[in-house]
Amino acid sequence: MLYRRRKLDLPRGELDTPVLFPVRNIGKRSSDNTPTYVGTIPEFSAAMINARSIRNRDPMWQRISNGVTLREEMDVPEDTIVFADSGGFDFANEEVDTTPAKTLDTQRQLDADILGTVDIPLSRENRAAENQRRIDQSIEYALKASDHHDGKGLLFASVHGYDPETIRNNIQYLEKNGEFDGFALGSMVPIRTDYKKVTKLILSARNATDKHLHVYGLGGLVYQPLLLYLGVDSFDSSAFIRSAGNRNYLIPGFGGEELRNIEELDRLPCPCPVCGQKELDEIREDRTALTQHNLWALATELRRFRYVAESDRDVEEYLDLRFSGNKVTKRAYETAKQQMRRLT
Ligand SMILES: [Zn+2]
Repeated sequence: MLYRRRKLDLPRGELDTPVLFPVRNIGKRSSDNTPTYVGTIPEFSAAMINARSIRNRDPMWQRISNGVTLREEMDVPEDTIVFADSGGFDFANEEVDTTPAKTLDTQRQLDADILGTVDIPLSRENRAAENQRRIDQSIEYALKASDHHDGKGLLFASVHGYDPETIRNNIQYLEKNGEFDGFALGSMVPIRTDYKKVTKLILSARNATDKHLHVYGLGGLVYQPLLLYLGVDSFDSSAFIRSAGNRNYLIPGFGGEELRNIEELDRLPCPCPVCGQKELDEIREDRTALTQHNLWALATELRRFRYVAESDRDVEEYLDLRFSGNKVTKRAYETAKQQMRRLT
């Protein structure tokens, strides 16, 4: 098993990994609909934000330029750990409107603890040549960021590739030619239903470096145990917000369940501070409560895995059980297990 526990030494103190960065939509056109979770879920003292959308958001950027802190804008304590990604996700369909230096400058003004380098995500629909151009461009951006980085906050190089060799070569090239504190694997979201491919690519990244490995965008309920099993150190997710928007209730150990399928229930199968007290009818009417519960569900999934790993239990036996309820994810896990056996 590749599961590992480490500590990240950040400007705001140490952060235990593996860790999930809940995504905050701050700066996006829709209002930041993330409910307060800092302080209510102890291990979620961190957040993932999009540096570009905040920079492009007047008057918020005006206020930050005038001395208001990002944490004040987010209404969270000043010691909240922030991973600022470049906002490259939007460059899948939009023109790149930043440079590595400008993005670093934004990340610095946001006083981010972890800085992701500018990148251009791949798409399944693109021709191979176009994806290759994007891969090369992202490498160039990462090296430029390394040149400009002043050492405050950790710099993670964003890496892309749709085959294991490309990912391995990219990470090794970046290790050799730049200075990075870790790597962040992107472009997995568009291929997330192809579990076999995704786990193969992640394993390739994991084996290419001993440094911190983050995977962008795959921190939902089903992927979480897989990522932990594959030795990923951190991930981020907006699944708790998106699911709540679709009236989808996340159940640790299972997955999402549409509330309309379980209308007969009075009490939900979760003892979190939201569901422990409220009836299903109340939660259905209260999107904030549902979002908060969904976050607790992600925390619970993580805690369970940790419990199994730290106690004398067999992680693979647990995962056999964890994925037994769904044919697709079961196969995904079986594949990951075989891929790992071949490597170790
Ligand atoms: Zn709950």
